[in-house]
Amino acid sequence: MFPDADYSGRLDRARALMDERDADVMLLSVGADLPYFAGYEAMPLERLTMLVVPKDAGAVLVVPRLEAPRIALRGGAFEVWPWDELDDPVGVVARHAGKADLALIGEQTWSRFLLELQRTMHRTRFESASAVTRQLRMRKDAAEIELLRAAAAATDRVVAALDGVAFGGRTERDLAAEVQRLVMAEGHDIASFAIIASGPNAASPHHEPTDRMIEEGDTVVVDFGGRWHGYCSDTTRTFVVGEPSPEIAAAHSVLEAAQAAGRAAVRPGATGEDVDAAARKVIDAAGYGDHFIHRTGHGIGLEVHEHPYIVAGNSEPLEAGMTFSIEPGIYLPGRFGMRIEDIVACSTDGIDELNRSPRTLHEVS
Ligand code: ZN
Ligand code: ZN
Repeated sequence: MFPDADYSGRLDRARALMDERDADVMLLSVGADLPYFAGYEAMPLERLTMLVVPKDAGAVLVVPRLEAPRIALRGGAFEVWPWDELDDPVGVVARHAGKADLALIGEQTWSRFLLELQRTMHRTRFESASAVTRQLRMRKDAAEIELLRAAAAATDRVVAALDGVAFGGRTERDLAAEVQRLVMAEGHDIASFAIIASGPNAASPHHEPTDRMIEEGDTVVVDFGGRWHGYCSDTTRTFVVGEPSPEIAAAHSVLEAAQAAGRAAVRPGATGEDVDAAARKVIDAAGYGDHFIHRTGHGIGLEVHEHPYIVAGNSEPLEAGMTFSIEPGIYLPGRFGMRIEDIVACSTDGIDELNRSPRTLHEVS
């Protein structure tokens, strides 16, 4: 599922950052850090999988023996150490970690394993590995951006297909199943989620599809994504069944202008909060400020939500290679909601737009 990449180079860059922090070893388990450094995703189950990255020695992937056949060796970036059912995998990890004063541990590691590691490595201090992993993972290389572009293009084709689909008279749940089928048909590995939020339900940004029947005049927020060779897609367009009311049409024009202002603010050196403020200003000025109830966006890559976050308070400058969503919304409780979401990359001279389907209100029957 995960493409070939310079895994040895990524591990070397991690070791350089570990050195700056005086960390002796980094321990990564479930979540997206492991695929980033080893091209392998741990099963989120009770058997421990852990990549042990000592600062001064080769990396070792400790895995349950029954999962070892799934591992691609990635040009010797790491060694594989399969453990048997009666072994103590925490002891195996501790042995490979060696004498460590400071260990960095992946943030999504189960607390059960961290507690056992702390008992076994009782002289070692544990800190989050995110200080190292986020620095590397949020700066995408050209190949990662091309995977995100291909994932986004596939979701754009799904949006184009939805323009020809009848929404009225079917349930949110039924339409969600169709969106997920289209996502798979367009070549994704996994259809991770499909939010179909119609009529008053559209005012809830993370609505779960229900058996509500979609009606004439409804706005329908369609927010969906999946994984493409391990990289995530995530796009939103708002549809309307039949002619939009003047109020809905006007609000959507405001939203289009806000989303465009967010995109126009993207360039190296601008911050996440600059992009958020640019989009928010347009919505505030039109009087909908209280109805834009979430941040403007999130980073995306191997995880659908990761750094950098496009939110007030994030004053870290954007750099070429950072990829994230721009997704302002307007939500009127009990009445309607709308959102426009694109994935974009910051490029050396501004923005590289990965999603390109029309951002207008999509009229359907
Ligand atoms: Zn989304
Ligand atoms: Zn999103």
